[in-house]
This record gives sequence, C-alpha cells and structure tokens, in this order.
Amino acid sequence: MLSTVGDVELGIGLIFEHGRTVHARSEVVTFDGTAVSRITFAALADRVGQLANALRALGIEGDDRVGTLMFNRQEHQEAYFAIPCMGAVMHTLNFRLHPDQFTYVVNHADNRVIIFEGFLAPVLLAVRDRLPNVRALIMVGEAPEGVTVPPDVLRYEDLLAAQPTTFEWPTIAERNAAAICYTSGTTGDPKGVVYSHRSMYLHALGFLANFEVSQEDRILAIVPMFHVNAWGLPYAAWFTGADLLMPARFLQAEPLCRFLALEPPTMSAGVPTVWADVLRFSETHDVDFSRLNQIIVGGSAVPVSLIENFQQRHDVKIIQAWGMTETSPLGAIAVPPRHTPVADQLRYRAKTGRPMAGVSLRIVDEDAKVLPNDGVAVGELQAYGPWVTSSYLHDPAPEKFQTDERGRVWLRTGDVASIDAEWYVQITDRAKDVIKSGGEWISSVDLENALMGHPAIAEAAVVAVPDAKWDERPMACIVARDGATVTPAELAAFLDGRVAKWWIPERWTFIAEVPKTSTLKFDKKVLRARHAAGELAVTDITA
Ligand code: AMP
Repeated sequence: MLSTVGDVELGIGLIFEHGRTVHARSEVVTFDGTAVSRITFAALADRVGQLANALRALGIEGDDRVGTLMFNRQEHQEAYFAIPCMGAVMHTLNFRLHPDQFTYVVNHADNRVIIFEGFLAPVLLAVRDRLPNVRALIMVGEAPEGVTVPPDVLRYEDLLAAQPTTFEWPTIAERNAAAICYTSGTTGDPKGVVYSHRSMYLHALGFLANFEVSQEDRILAIVPMFHVNAWGLPYAAWFTGADLLMPARFLQAEPLCRFLALEPPTMSAGVPTVWADVLRFSETHDVDFSRLNQIIVGGSAVPVSLIENFQQRHDVKIIQAWGMTETSPLGAIAVPPRHTPVADQLRYRAKTGRPMAGVSLRIVDEDAKVLPNDGVAVGELQAYGPWVTSSYLHDPAPEKFQTDERGRVWLRTGDVASIDAEWYVQITDRAKDVIKSGGEWISSVDLENALMGHPAIAEAAVVAVPDAKWDERPMACIVARDGATVTPAELAAFLDGRVAKWWIPERWTFIAEVPKTSTLKFDKKVLRARHAAGELAVTDITA
C-alpha cells in the first residue's frame, strides 16, 4: 500500500523558501576585520535570485558544476542556495590544496564557473591555464594589492546588479546532486563525495534533532564553508532562523575575539586548534564569552583539557562531534546519557560520541567480522545512513565500502575505534596512524589528549617510529607554549598514571609547530617522514 502523504521532493529549495519567508528578519553578518556588514534572510534571498539569473546568463544549465572558492561570508551563503536550487551542483574548493590537487579536483568535477573571493585570487590565477573547461571566473570583492586580475574576470556585484531578484526555481528530484566536496586526500588523489538534495535536507534536520538550536541563537560559523558543508550550519541556521555570523578569513584568535565582541554568538562550531588558540588568547586578554552557551568541536579528537577549561573558566559547553567528508559530515555526538550527574559528564564529553539519530555505526575486525560493543574490542569504524556516501564521483573505490548480508553498503571510515555498551564510540587512531608496539595497540589520540593537558604544551602529536625490540614505539612531538620550558622526563612523569605505563614514549622531540593538512588536522605522515629522514632532534630518555 502506498502512503497517502503528499510526495514532496526533499531538498535545499525547501530550506531556502522556509528561511526566506518565515525567518525573513534573521541575519547573516560578515566581518571584514574591522567592521561588520549585515543582511536579512529576505534581502539575501533576493540576491540569491540575482545570482541564479546571472549564472543562467553565463550558460549554467542542468547539473553543470559551479565552484566556490571563498571563506565564510555572505556571498558564500548566497552560492549555497543559488547553485543547488537552480539545479546546478556546487563544488566547494579548498584554497589550501596543493596547486596540482586543486587543478585535479576542478577538472575532475568538470567545473564550468568559479565564484572566488578576491583575497584568494592568487590561488586561482596561478592555475587558471590548467582549467580548460572553466569558462567564467567571478570575483567577490577586490584582489590583494599588487595582484593583477585579468580583464575577463567578472565582478560579482556587477553581475548581480544587472539581474532580477526573482527566478523560476525548478523542482529538483531529491536524489539529484546538490553539492560536491572532495576528501582531503593526504595520499593519492582526493575523492569526490556528491551530496544529494535529499541527503542535505535530512542532514540539516539531523543537525536540529541533535543540537539545541533555535531562532534565538546566533551561530558563529568558524568551520569553513569550503569543507563538508560547514557541518550543515548554513542550512540548519536557515531552517531555524538562527543568525549566522561569518568571520571571513579572520580566524586567528585576536581578530576572531574582536568579532566575538562586536557580535556576541550564542553558539559556534570549529576544529579544536582554533578553540585552543582562543582559549590561550583569553588568558591574557579580556574576552567576553558570557553569551556563548555551546561550541560544537570536531574534525579531530577534542582534548579533554579544552572541554574542562572552557567549562570551568567560561561556563561554555563544548560538544564533541565526529564526522567526515563522506558522512556530510555529522555522524556522532558526545552528549552524556540522560540523568548523568554533572560530576560524571566530563568522561562522556571526552569520548568521540554516540551515533546521531539517522546514522548507524559499527566496528569490524580485519576479517570484516562485526565486533561487540563492549568498550574493549577495537576495530575499523564503519558508517551507514541516509547522508553517508556509498561511492565516490567517477571512482567506485570498492575497497572503501563493505556490503552486508542485507545489501547495505557500509562506509569504511579508516578510523580505528571501540564502541561501548552505551553506544559511545571512542576513536583511538586513524588506521594509517596506528602504533603497534610488541603486537599491542597504543592509542596516539589518548597520548596526545593526555599531553595536551600539560600547562607547558601548546600542541602534541604522537607518531609510530620503528623500534628494534618492539617493532614500533610512540614518539611524542611537542610544541611548547610561548616562553614555557619543559623536559621530556617531566612530561613522561606527567603521563605516569594518566596512561598505561608501557605507553609512555621514550623518544621525544620538540618542534616549532605540528604540520597540518589542508583541513588543519595533524599531518603525521609528514612527521614520520621527517623522522625517517633524520630531520628531527630526538631525545631518548632511556638512553
Ligand atoms: P575529513 O573528511 O577531512 O573531515 O576528516 C574526517 C576524519 O577526521 C575522520 O575520519 C576522523 O579521523 C577525524 N575526526 C573527525 N572528528 C573527530 C573526532 N571528534 N575525534 C577524532 N577524530 C575525528
């Protein structure tokens, strides 16, 4: 029997229409480093119509791909609606990619037009000759001084000004593509994940079902819109009527805190490194967090010290979330079980998280056998759900998926984790970063977490290095805080009691900073390579 319910195609158009009408007075506020500009959802929606008309006039038809190369700003929000709602496919581009990878993803996704922020002109202009199918470049704002912009580059505001605000929005089949994001691909070519209108819609609802967010909220969107849909914030905010506060490229602690003072947020989201910087900055500067209730932090393991310090010093709740490009990204959230006494909450908040409503998670062993949720067994984390990818663009990559007896395609996340009886997932490592010492696993995530609780440490990364006796041992790479001095022996003593004794590294190295990937995660591959090349000065405390 078929249902009697109206057969409505789910999609970004529904989100757009809702925010445009019901939350017409909510705002998108963009920071320019000194002052802010603001626009209501209703006025922004008019510009969305103009942008769609302008793209149509440039020949964007059907599911043509349109790239965006921008920080978080009003114009990016406009693209987030105009491109998918007209039926085209938005491809968000990461400016930190190596030029070869940047060129590869633009061509692989067959982008036809790219909308870019003037500040990022050098990134794009450097490879322009290698993008044969890109027929138009549209620049938002001005390029930095000294950068020559070719005369055929179109100006965003001129294009919009020439167009009507209304557009004949088509009805789009919900399984059609809405947006593409490529994985960061630290090895090999990046892989394209294509989100559908349906998956984006459900992910936005999933966000609202799992986080406390309402029209009273003002969301500071730190997580970049060029990476995995800014964790769904642009659509979740538009759905609820929460204001969106866009910091553009001013993501260092000092300008960010100025923006925070101008436009106090109630909620935010971003990777741990940004918040660790803000926290350090707040130790020596007056930063008012009084309106800020919660920060969603994820993208890499969240140090427990970060959660503790924000709670104790500023009464701000850090909510750890896990996800990846392939999962849209939200997959797990570390909220304590109901009725947990406040004193016990921290240990749950420090975990990776429970599966969020809509996503199934499991762990499997090397023979693809599903492991029990006993908090002890450790295996590869797999994910399945309506916003989890089951293939890649023009690349089936069968090794990345596992089909179960019911025909469901599970994504192999490449994360190594345990799941306990209460369904809390704990990631111990990326599969490619694991440390196996004498046949036993050592969690680099746990070691880093413990080390980052030391007051003299700004950052700590732990990598596997070859060892004659144990095959592999952990080596700690430490970035000391400005002006702080600490010795390996002191740090080893600090770890004693915090992790198993046999986990404590013998080898220590002090570095100026931990190398980062294009999405600001620790790039341990680079650290291992530097160690192998003998470039790191290593102290062995047992020698
Ligand atoms: P990306 O696709 O670039 O967003 O990277 C996804 C990866 O980031 C995941 O597979 C994890 O390895 C890592 N990650 C994201 N969130 C967390 C978290 N809360 N704890 C540990 N690792 C995380």
